Amino acid sequence: MKYVVVTGGVMSGLGKGITAASIGRILINRGYRVTSVKIDPYLNIDAGLMNPAQHGEVFVLKDGGEADLDLGNYERFLDIELTSDHNLTTGKIYSSVIQKERHGDYLGATVQIIPHITDEIKGRIKHAAENWTDKDGSHAEICIVEIGGTVGDIESMPFLEAVRQMHWECGNGDFVLVHVTLLPTDTMGDLKTKPTQHSIKALRELGLEADLIVGRSTLPISLSTKRKISSFCDVDVSAVISATTASDTYFVPMELEMEGMADVLLPLLKLSSEKPDNSWYSLVSREYTNRIRIGIITKYGVEDVYISIKEALKHAGRQLSTEVVIEWLDAEQYIIQDLADLDGILIPGGFGNRGIEGMISAITYAREHNKPLLGLCLGFQLSVIEFARNVVGYCDATSVEMGEGTPIIDLLPEQDGVDDLGGTMRLGDYSVQLTADSRLAKLYGATEVIERHRHRYEVKPEYIDEIEAKGLRFVGRNGQRMEVLELPDHPYFVATQFHPEFRSRPTQPSAPFIGFVKASLANQTWRE
Ligand code: GLN
Repeated sequence: MKYVVVTGGVMSGLGKGITAASIGRILINRGYRVTSVKIDPYLNIDAGLMNPAQHGEVFVLKDGGEADLDLGNYERFLDIELTSDHNLTTGKIYSSVIQKERHGDYLGATVQIIPHITDEIKGRIKHAAENWTDKDGSHAEICIVEIGGTVGDIESMPFLEAVRQMHWECGNGDFVLVHVTLLPTDTMGDLKTKPTQHSIKALRELGLEADLIVGRSTLPISLSTKRKISSFCDVDVSAVISATTASDTYFVPMELEMEGMADVLLPLLKLSSEKPDNSWYSLVSREYTNRIRIGIITKYGVEDVYISIKEALKHAGRQLSTEVVIEWLDAEQYIIQDLADLDGILIPGGFGNRGIEGMISAITYAREHNKPLLGLCLGFQLSVIEFARNVVGYCDATSVEMGEGTPIIDLLPEQDGVDDLGGTMRLGDYSVQLTADSRLAKLYGATEVIERHRHRYEVKPEYIDEIEAKGLRFVGRNGQRMEVLELPDHPYFVATQFHPEFRSRPTQPSAPFIGFVKASLANQTWRE
């Protein structure tokens, strides 16, 4: 196993995750099998209970792991599936060491950060890297290890010490360190290297040397600036890679490749440089010939909360040569006229009752005005509530999550008595049986599909017949559990209890999104 460790300097939010995922894509294009591990140095066990407005979307993995959004970038860029083993946190590491201590596993030793915590970290990185298999059962040759946070943070110290030991144990050739840093611009418009020099110094103090430096900047890094970084930071000039902000994150691998990333990285890894397969690049840069405008009715005004939805719309759009322009509409502030010139309306997942009345009004609008609608998870539940209120006649229809009224959406029976909120929802992959003549069965080209879930509530079974008698069809089920709804005689009124966005890939757009983009294109009301 070869490791490419990615650290960050100067500040967070530099696009370290996209850089790391792009390096993975570059290596795959050169014929290598790649997996990844993301390290988040916070004390939470996982991202499940973290506020998405601060940390971005909680990405749901196939095994039900609730992970950092970077795992989504890895799955999309590398076209792989990961498990919770691939997202390490300080919480996971410490809790397992403490559990082992209580169990008596350390045989009288004084349990310490070095070696016990660092051994646990190394063991888990290696376990995740070595045990991962691709769809065809093959193992990875290279593992990208991204260390969250910035070098110098107290939280990431044990992880940096662990990778320092790994470097020693693996030896050169099986371990490469890529440091992603910022080159700010001064008042004269020149790129400054001092913060980079300082962050390389911070790495050195921890016994780590960067082999490759990716400099994020607004302007391309000139040769003379690269020379300066090279001489201060002990890397070859060719190992200083310039990364300006790309217009689309999927272009980053291509841009890093053009900067010579593979030519530097492969010799460092003692790997031969195969000719790259550029088909992924052609796919993600397919020309747009159409454009649609989709409104997403949101509770949070932070786009990162909905990153997988944004990407799934992009994947479906690319396949249909259609640029999807997203209008972010605040569920508590938008007015009904804002919906008129949208080509489609999307209601995303969410928790709690803030903003739900605005989401329900948008669903009513979509239903009555034949606007394509895609509802996801909470969007599915609210579509049922809207129909129950305005068509079936339960004017106080609600979800028990939201408050008093007719509880059309109820707690899942197995959730009764669940007190711990972390990792206890209905999570991850479950199969869904689709009615053969449904729109979604046609779009998927299958009557049984697997999708990822994250919910505590469901359509209460006793209302199903009554709702269906009024025309809403539940065309996807998992036993008694309602998973997909469709409204016949409507251009596209589809909602899913699952989250199809998490399995969408540039290479394989998600079926519900394809149907939604197609219908929105057909409904197009807006052009520049
Ligand atoms: N809050 C709803 C539930 O728990 C929907 C969850 C979601 O949208 N992810 O069932």
